[in-house]
Amino acid sequence: MQTVSCPGCGAPIQFLSTASVLAVCGYCKSTVIKDVASVKDLGKMAEVLEDYSPIQIGTSGVFAATAFTVIGRIQLRYPEGMWNEWYALFADGKTAWLSDASGQYTFTTEVVSTTALPAFNTMVPARSYLINGQRYMAADVRTANCIAGQGELPFQVGQGWQTHTADLRAGGNFITLDYSEPEHTRLYAGQAVTLEGLQCQLLRDEEQIQTSAGKFKGKVSALSCPACGSSTPVLPGVTNTLICPACHAQVDISGPTAQVLAVGSSVAQVYTTLTLGAAATISGRAYQIIGLMRLCDNQNTVWTEYLLHSPRAGFLWLVETDQEWYRASVMDEWPTLTQGDTAMLGSTAFQKHVHYPAKVIYAIGAFNWRVGVGYQTDNIEFQNGSTILAAEMTGTELTWSQSTPVSADQISAWFGNGVQGGKQGQDQIGPLKNVAYKWMAIIALLNFIPFLATDDSWIIIAIGCAALYYPAKYLDDLQGGDS
Ligand SMILES: [Zn+2]
Ligand SMILES: [Zn+2]
Repeated sequence: MQTVSCPGCGAPIQFLSTASVLAVCGYCKSTVIKDVASVKDLGKMAEVLEDYSPIQIGTSGVFAATAFTVIGRIQLRYPEGMWNEWYALFADGKTAWLSDASGQYTFTTEVVSTTALPAFNTMVPARSYLINGQRYMAADVRTANCIAGQGELPFQVGQGWQTHTADLRAGGNFITLDYSEPEHTRLYAGQAVTLEGLQCQLLRDEEQIQTSAGKFKGKVSALSCPACGSSTPVLPGVTNTLICPACHAQVDISGPTAQVLAVGSSVAQVYTTLTLGAAATISGRAYQIIGLMRLCDNQNTVWTEYLLHSPRAGFLWLVETDQEWYRASVMDEWPTLTQGDTAMLGSTAFQKHVHYPAKVIYAIGAFNWRVGVGYQTDNIEFQNGSTILAAEMTGTELTWSQSTPVSADQISAWFGNGVQGGKQGQDQIGPLKNVAYKWMAIIALLNFIPFLATDDSWIIIAIGCAALYYPAKYLDDLQGGDS
């Protein structure tokens, strides 16, 4: 360990790792470079945004049977949100990165690549790459900016520092390619971890997180829409996007301050079988619908997806088509694709059965990724019996989900009185009034010529139209239709 005096305020700054080249003074936030000859002050580092991470400088734990301590942190922002990279020092002097993206943790250490690594501009999600003798599939490819730093770090960062990264997966294995140095691509390998699995100590507790971030992490809490002021439930630190149900503004809620990304346009009322906020008890656990969206494919088939959250069990999806309901969850362990359109999950083979584009045509509520009307994915489904594995691809990301059918009776049992609203697809046919309008138009057309030619027959037409319109309006109003 090396101790230097902060050139900004004189406070002692400790370099715990010999690999560290930079430290941020805990008192005055001066960025201090540990040079061979001298200590340089590079100016102030931006304060880290108080987020919901339970990790802090000094948090300790065990990874791969070796004790580690967190000694530094960088905060990164990209178009879809932000995340923390915690710099960890092992008892044997080696270092690693503990990544925390909205509560999803991965632990990676730098490894030597035995083969040439693919260039950043060749990285495409869902494409497979041979790295160190193993085939990996690219999961996400992103460009991010460092917005703040804390503690000691192994390289020089500051505001405006940009990094290009690609994450790849093979089964439960995880690698990151780091392109932040133009002449040298770094390879990090590791796996998805949990804080319990790492036996973490000195974590921030709920009270500390709440005090610094203002809200409890992961507990449904009301957020006032910055565009219209109406209150909507969100999950602080877990959901990063809100689409206001009142004004349809798309709001970034990944940081401590909500920011409007896109103002809402007027959207026709959409009827859904289940509504935002509806509560359910599934497998003995309490769930709530926090987001819902309507999608369509290139055949104009429309379906609805509901995002449910349970404080104890996390996220769950319910998908409603015009024929069936499905229960779906995002997969942490990915299937491997073999030749001949087969996806293998363990020893179970799933056959490719459909490939289609999906586009979001309506969305409201809180989501854990950056979604909005117009968001598109390219989907491929693989089937074994009634179980479906679906790969959803965008230009920057690939996710896998697994779904199984659920009976409508089961949905009723889960939601009880929460099942309401119109039937799937009602808004496509239009409320009954629209049907009445069509008939009125036809009647008016059929009567147009005699109407011009003669007498007072318009009264009869008007009575006929009223006889069609008012019963339809009455039925629509009974069903909660809009005007
Ligand atoms: Zn200082
Ligand atoms: Zn709003």
